[in-house]
Amino acid sequence: MTYADMILRDGEIITLDPHHTVAEALAIKDGRVLETGSSSEVSRLAGPDTRVIDLDGRAVTPGFISTHDHFLEHGIAAEFVSDVRYPRAKNLRDIASIIAERVAKTEKGRWILAAGWDETLLEEHRLPNRFDLDPVSPENPVWIRRVFEMGVANSRALKEAGIDRDTPDPPLGKIDRDEDGEPTGILRGRAMDLVLRTIPPWTLEEREQAIRRACRDFLAQGITSVIEPGILMPQLQAYRSLHQKGELTVRIFVQYGFLHDVEEVREAIRRIKVGGDDMLRVIGLKFALDGGVGPRTALMYDPYEGQPENRGVQLIEGETLKEMTRVGHEAGFQVAIHAIGDRAIDIAVDAYRYAQESYPRSDPRHQIVHCYFPSEKTLRQIEELGVLVNTQTPFLYWLGDSFLEAIGPERCARCIPIKTLLQRGIAVGNSHDATVTPPKPPIGLNASVARKTIKGEKIGAEEAVTPLQALTTYTTLAARHAFMEDKIGSLEKGKYADIAVWNKNPLKVEPEGLKSLEVEMTLVEGVIRYSNKGGEKGA
Ligand SMILES: [Zn+2]
Repeated sequence: MTYADMILRDGEIITLDPHHTVAEALAIKDGRVLETGSSSEVSRLAGPDTRVIDLDGRAVTPGFISTHDHFLEHGIAAEFVSDVRYPRAKNLRDIASIIAERVAKTEKGRWILAAGWDETLLEEHRLPNRFDLDPVSPENPVWIRRVFEMGVANSRALKEAGIDRDTPDPPLGKIDRDEDGEPTGILRGRAMDLVLRTIPPWTLEEREQAIRRACRDFLAQGITSVIEPGILMPQLQAYRSLHQKGELTVRIFVQYGFLHDVEEVREAIRRIKVGGDDMLRVIGLKFALDGGVGPRTALMYDPYEGQPENRGVQLIEGETLKEMTRVGHEAGFQVAIHAIGDRAIDIAVDAYRYAQESYPRSDPRHQIVHCYFPSEKTLRQIEELGVLVNTQTPFLYWLGDSFLEAIGPERCARCIPIKTLLQRGIAVGNSHDATVTPPKPPIGLNASVARKTIKGEKIGAEEAVTPLQALTTYTTLAARHAFMEDKIGSLEKGKYADIAVWNKNPLKVEPEGLKSLEVEMTLVEGVIRYSNKGGEKGA
């Protein structure tokens, strides 16, 4: 008789198998699901060394799979970049004291980074300047990013970047100056590059530390697999190094990039191959075709509200994109193209059709990343070509108000149309695009079901889906994006025991209640990697 290593019993196990079975208990052996069923059936697999966990009615789902989160960047931000967002910093003194705290813990001469101020929310209602920062940081260069568009440097940072009263404004950038012509520390647009290129790159050890941090943060949210988009060799090496030490505890599927032209794609496929193991694998290449809705840079057929000339930006020319896609496609990579506006999505779909016609390949699983405004006609093509939609419903919640402002409620009615996509059988994966929005699946589930912005405005209410459908975009359907549907995404015999235990059953709470779902325990391959009680972590 084979005994289980662990049994979870007396709960609601949402297996997400093809029949959407909800079981009472689940047994784990060698990191995989051994059995699901009633508590009495599964308890027969308990041997003398089996660990039995009483779920006490709690709900269990497969570990969540996030199809687009900048995992390493999240770790860097969490570990090394101080948060000066409101309300953590309510005024400029608060910002200075947050910097002072960091200075006290940092060697002289090392850079101190922070991010997130928005002067419209600060008591002083003015931009910070280097004189606000210099008193607390005489011997460390300091660079603080605003929410977007600009940053502020202290005097030491300006000096290291070689910026003084004689430095001309670079193209597309501006160095703010006082009445005497002295730089104030505020750098806008491309002028930020003057400082950014002076900051030394993160070391391997720092990147490993960031990945460890991201593993902890994502596991605490029930996320056990992530597609990591847009990393290059130094970042990939940090993942490989940490994995070799056995410290990578979240499954990482890499889309290598960003790549900007055909030569970069050729260079990439010379350097890396598709492959790896089930914890770390290279699957794709990442290109970016347009910008975002809030900043009004997503490529649209129709102009933005109040800006009749502005239809967004196209970052890669159509013929170039086709060729880049074909080269990656022929080399066996999944191609993932960032395309948000309706026009950008059409150009991306054209590239996929071109690649497939030039070199037919079965099931390449190319993705439209974001895919916020697909037209009806394009949806048919996406379906025909088997293209996957890798989207982010958390944007509806966190950024929906800026979407409504940029293009109005009528066009927003079809924004992220997941109901339509699912009805057409398109594999929709959900995610957060961290660090743009926080990696919190409860917000993603809520946004998919409630379709409300953070201010409570409705956004495309007709595209609302059921909680069960919302769950599939983080599990069974998301697994297809990583080519892992045979191993993860549902709790069925033989699949990995990647599991999240929740405080409430997501299928039984009201849409608003989804927001307060919390993870109590997360397992990866049968090992407890997170517990809100602490002290239970497996080796
Ligand atoms: Zn992204």
